[in-house]
Amino acid sequence: MARFGMVIDTKKCVGCMDCVVACKTENNVPEGYNRDWIVTAANGKFPDIHLEIQTQRCNHCDYTPCVSCCPTGASHVEDFGKIVLVEHNKCIGCKACLAACPYDARFIHPDGYADKCTFCIHRVEKGELPACVSVCPTHCMYFGDLDDPNSEVSKLLASRKNHSLIPEAGTLPRIYYLT
Ligand code: SF4
Ligand code: SF4
Ligand code: SF4
Repeated sequence: MARFGMVIDTKKCVGCMDCVVACKTENNVPEGYNRDWIVTAANGKFPDIHLEIQTQRCNHCDYTPCVSCCPTGASHVEDFGKIVLVEHNKCIGCKACLAACPYDARFIHPDGYADKCTFCIHRVEKGELPACVSVCPTHCMYFGDLDDPNSEVSKLLASRKNHSLIPEAGTLPRIYYLT
């Protein structure tokens, strides 16, 4: 069974926000909310510091405080690709998961449930790439099985310097940034 993750080449990202627009369109994300967003961050340690443009979203962590805190079981890890999802009709909108996520990846949808990036599971199940990955004009985003040593994501991680966000939170995030 796959364990999906994303690898993002920050050397190729130009911050055009096509991924943000694609996500909103594909997933009918309501006005004023986002499942993904762009951040410009300083990366590295002095004197080796450089600016990095990062497209960010839920990290589909291996350790999920957002799931363990959920009182109803709405937040869960799918068998398919270990994607972290919210079952809308089980969610009571209590916001415990919003507080538990170190990445601020979740919001309460106007319809009352917690929402966030789904890794576009509806597309991936059909063999398609997530919408954000598929539209990127510089092809800086890669999606695949981190447990398969022959996948493009695994090969990139083995061959390029990379980091994930807020590793000290201990959630074992599955989105990696190539530097
Ligand atoms: Fe949960 Fe936040 Fe990790 Fe996503 S980024 S799996 S919402 S802790
Ligand atoms: Fe669970 Fe919904 Fe509460 Fe989040 S807001 S912890 S998904 S019931
Ligand atoms: Fe949005 Fe899908 Fe990309 Fe997640 S994987 S940020 S839901 S387009």
